[in-house]
Amino acid sequence: MLHTACATSGPPSPTLLPQVGEGRGETVIVMPRNHITPEQIDAILPQTQCGLCSYGACMPYAEALVHSNAAINLCPPGGVNGLQIIANLVNEDPEPFMAEMAEKAKPKLLAVIREAECIGCTKCIQACPVDAILGSGKLMHTVIAAECTGCELCVAPCPVDCIDMITVNELNETEEKRKANMARERFNARQQRLNTVANEEKARPTIATTNLSNDNKKAFLQAALLRAQQKKIGS
Ligand code: SF4
Ligand code: SF4
Ligand code: SF4
Repeated sequence: MLHTACATSGPPSPTLLPQVGEGRGETVIVMPRNHITPEQIDAILPQTQCGLCSYGACMPYAEALVHSNAAINLCPPGGVNGLQIIANLVNEDPEPFMAEMAEKAKPKLLAVIREAECIGCTKCIQACPVDAILGSGKLMHTVIAAECTGCELCVAPCPVDCIDMITVNELNETEEKRKANMARERFNARQQRLNTVANEEKARPTIATTNLSNDNKKAFLQAALLRAQQKKIGS
């Protein structure tokens, strides 16, 4: 199999030299994909943020397509159309993957919570990559339909199995794009929030006595008390 990326006239520039590798018993010539950026690929990914590509989210898959020659057939929500667009961007032939992608392509899905059964545990909120679920502790939860990407990540964590995934109509191209852009923004905003919380946690001073035995803790506290008393006497 020959991956024929970067069709240019004349010899390839040094940065575009092909690498030779092994694949299923045949020699595979892989052209670098540095004619394209992750942002260009991310712009055409569906932004379901489902992780089915095994890269965790859409942008990491886009980065892997550019920098690590990831396979072009790893996004089931994109379906056959998405496969063809990716193939076109990276100058590869989608044909060998078309039948398999037709099989594994995902329809458009929407999560719906059977609210009467919801126990308000908030596990679905924690799992949702685009903050499309409303609710708080011990209160009924609901999905904001316009913001749900159908990623299914909320289903498994629900302890009472009260989330259904229903198939919904495909959107037209403009609507699809608008929804994907909104999902990207919501995903990024959530990541930023989670990073801020994690950094604040890291920066929080730890109690010095955490790893001390009870005897040592007592000694540590007595010494601190003594130092405080001495300081008071000295002032
Ligand atoms: S939609 Fe899912 S499978 Fe496709 S790139 Fe995004 S995270 Fe990966
Ligand atoms: S509500 Fe569920 S299916 Fe919809 S985006 Fe959030 S986690 Fe995914
Ligand atoms: S995980 Fe299930 S039970 Fe828990 S809040 Fe979400 S829908 Fe309700």
